[in-house]
Amino acid sequence: MSDAQAITAFKSTLPVKSWTQDKGVIEPYLHEWRGRWHGETPILLLPASTQEVADAVKICAHFKLPITVQGGNTGLVGGQVPQGEVLLSTVRLNRIREANADNLHMICEAGVTLQAVHSAVDDLDLKFPLSLASQGSCTIGGNLSTNAGGVHVVKYGTARDLVFGVEAVLADGKIYNGLNPLRKDNTGYDLSQLLIGAEGTLGIITAASMKLFPKPQNNICILAAVESPDNALQLLNEVRYGNRLSMFELIPRLGMDYVTRNIAGQKDPFSAEYPWYVLLEWEFANGDDPQKFTENSLEKIADNGLILDAVIATSQAQTAALLALRENLSASQKPIGATIKHDISVPIAKVPAFIAQANAAVTRHTPNCRPLAFGHLGDGNIHYNIGQPKDMQPEEFMAQEPEINDIVYDIVCALGGSISAEHGIGILKKPQLGRRADPVKLQMMQTIKTALDPDNILNPRNIL
Ligand SMILES: Cc1cc2nc3c(=O)[nH]c(=O)nc-3n(C[C@H](O)[C@H](O)[C@H](O)COP(=O)(O)OP(=O)(O)OC[C@H]3O[C@@H](n4cnc5c(N)ncnc54)[C@H](O)[C@@H]3O)c2cc1C
Repeated sequence: MSDAQAITAFKSTLPVKSWTQDKGVIEPYLHEWRGRWHGETPILLLPASTQEVADAVKICAHFKLPITVQGGNTGLVGGQVPQGEVLLSTVRLNRIREANADNLHMICEAGVTLQAVHSAVDDLDLKFPLSLASQGSCTIGGNLSTNAGGVHVVKYGTARDLVFGVEAVLADGKIYNGLNPLRKDNTGYDLSQLLIGAEGTLGIITAASMKLFPKPQNNICILAAVESPDNALQLLNEVRYGNRLSMFELIPRLGMDYVTRNIAGQKDPFSAEYPWYVLLEWEFANGDDPQKFTENSLEKIADNGLILDAVIATSQAQTAALLALRENLSASQKPIGATIKHDISVPIAKVPAFIAQANAAVTRHTPNCRPLAFGHLGDGNIHYNIGQPKDMQPEEFMAQEPEINDIVYDIVCALGGSISAEHGIGILKKPQLGRRADPVKLQMMQTIKTALDPDNILNPRNIL
């Protein structure tokens, strides 16, 4: 049996719109946005239904042909870029099948973008709280497969917390239907949760039943200047009670510099420069008095001297301007040259220790490198991106990546943290996972993989 026979089988089984070998059409699917991975594939499959995904996977199973799945292609660990495998894109699995305001659930297909979900639930005066800067492109299937996090984890949890169940095509082409909208269901193993965060290695998610929430009546966004990560942590302790806090993001001065210098239209809202900033958001339900709550809270915090200065957004435009400072942090690092990136988590209380220890260690290793620690302090997830020294060639700096990774991940592990907080393992972190994960965990993962995908055809280069 040859790959050519499998290609013939795809062409004769799937509708003509559901596959292509046109190089021009395939090209954009072979690169990810930062240009770090470039791929190749003999054929791009574009199924428009769960049954078509199942038909395609049955052919792969029959010919033992590996297959890579791609959603919005915004993943940051390389797992969605094929290296010679068949490529299956979920772009045409784009229907919202059901939205129910009484049961607060929605069933949508894997290729629906996160932004499309937001628009649909907004029309119902409801909220789906997953929120990422990539939401215009990333898909629900990708979000669940990576167990995406984002800025609202502090209140709503990660993608896996926002789902009742999924529908997925397994490695033999069978369809698993876990699309119930039940808040209670203790009928054995939770197989949907097994598929979530599996990065496409255990099944192809084709649809999901997702939790919706009442839309907050009001929200208040504040950018607060603070002296240090320690003070930011103390501030978190002051503002997180009462289930109102929905965002708590840390931004260093260097980040504010990058965004305001490198991204058109971005302005520092303060007239003075401060060492650190916290972007926080409170959500308010009916009956709350946002103004009064904010005044009282800030007055209390001002008394203990934690905040050096603060800007409170008083309009949607001002809120959008504050949020844009945070959302543009990743893009603003592009012009500074090469960066070595880490997406780590530690227990929330240890974030200041992580930042202090990592900054000291990486600058000792590579003098004049530019560490930038930012992100989701509210849930302990810090993006730790180290910019090259200004006077070093990018290639020379990137050659140090393995050593710098070890330095950073040693500190993370010593603090009881995780080497991947929200981006996943993909191919990027596979060697680190192999070295650092509990061997029993790795063995259990391998046992599950072998049981569900004995010929290793689903995303075979990812994770294990
Ligand atoms: C600017 C920017 C900001 C970002 N911010 C965040 C953030 O705040 N938090 C965060 O968690 N991530 C963030 N990301 C990373 C990325 O957006 C998320 O990982 C997202 O969930 C990926 O979705 P996607 O549809 O693009 O998936 P892809 O990139 O296409 O795929 C990602 C992985 O999931 C697998 N996969 C995709 N669809 C399926 C499916 N239907 N079934 C099975 N496997 C599948 C792929 O094979 C791959 O391994 C950001 C990325 C960018 C570019």
